[in-house]
Amino acid sequence: MALHIETPLLNSRALSLHSDRAIWLKLEALQPPGSFKIRGIGIACEEYARRGASRFISSSGGNAGIAVAYAGRQLGIPVIVVVPETTSARARALIAQEGAEVIVHGAAWQEANALAQAMLTPQDAFLHPFDDPLLWQGHAGMIDEVASAGLKPDAVVLSVGGGGLLAGVAEGLQRNGWDDVALVAVETEGAASLAAAVAARDRVALPAVSSIATSLAARQVCAQAYAISQTRLLHSVVVSDKAAVDACQRFIDDQRLVVEPACGAALAAVYGKVPQLAPYRNVLVIVCGGVTATTQQLDHWTATL
Ligand SMILES: *Cc1c(COP(=O)(O)O)cnc(C)c1O
Repeated sequence: MALHIETPLLNSRALSLHSDRAIWLKLEALQPPGSFKIRGIGIACEEYARRGASRFISSSGGNAGIAVAYAGRQLGIPVIVVVPETTSARARALIAQEGAEVIVHGAAWQEANALAQAMLTPQDAFLHPFDDPLLWQGHAGMIDEVASAGLKPDAVVLSVGGGGLLAGVAEGLQRNGWDDVALVAVETEGAASLAAAVAARDRVALPAVSSIATSLAARQVCAQAYAISQTRLLHSVVVSDKAAVDACQRFIDDQRLVVEPACGAALAAVYGKVPQLAPYRNVLVIVCGGVTATTQQLDHWTATL
């Protein structure tokens, strides 16, 4: 049995009325570990298990680490997640709750990742959070489900961190013959590595990242994501942290679902009526989810931003 579930696709009355076009939501927030990540991570973990891996190692303190921990528990394979000291107590607890061993090491992700790499033996599989073709193949399944439901959107709105979701959605569009469907790739200010690459016409790395949407905080997008931005119809959109949090709050009222600001960024493009959406009548929004923000945390951001 697959480790991810087939998620609901629904037309949002509230968002459609607000934006004066049909807004369709692919509810990846309902995946068992709380985000779309399990689609790709699940397929990758199953494949690495088939190839004989006896342990999974990850260095993501976010939704990817939680998905690896979930996959390991389901497959009966031990998981180690090495996270930096900056990883929140909540994220550490969620990883541990899935039965994985959490090792806290270093002030920043680079140090945690270096330890994770140093621990790898030939029996281990390392799970990258976004730069692995197996992940993209798994993420692409969400577009297959949309096609099976009989919907062909004019545009797909999605959040971009390292670009694994973007690569997967693009693969899904391609394998359904939907090369004419536009992509609207949304990032937050301070984590806009795709926007910087598109502007520079080069896959540049940001000198630093700063955004409350920590799941989008990759300094550089993967080569596949950059290639997609150069070869497909893609609009790059950047929203503020405040717009992303406001979108999370409105989404709680409109759809009764809590998502983190990384997902709120994509929703903010719809709530904020960005001009890039103007040409499109049927818009699919990937509600990527994320479990790192509680309602209390969202309220705190609303009060302080
Ligand atoms: C990982 C993640 C993203 C970004 O995905 P990338 O593949 O890194 O671009 C966006 N939202 C949530 C909730 C995530 O967990």
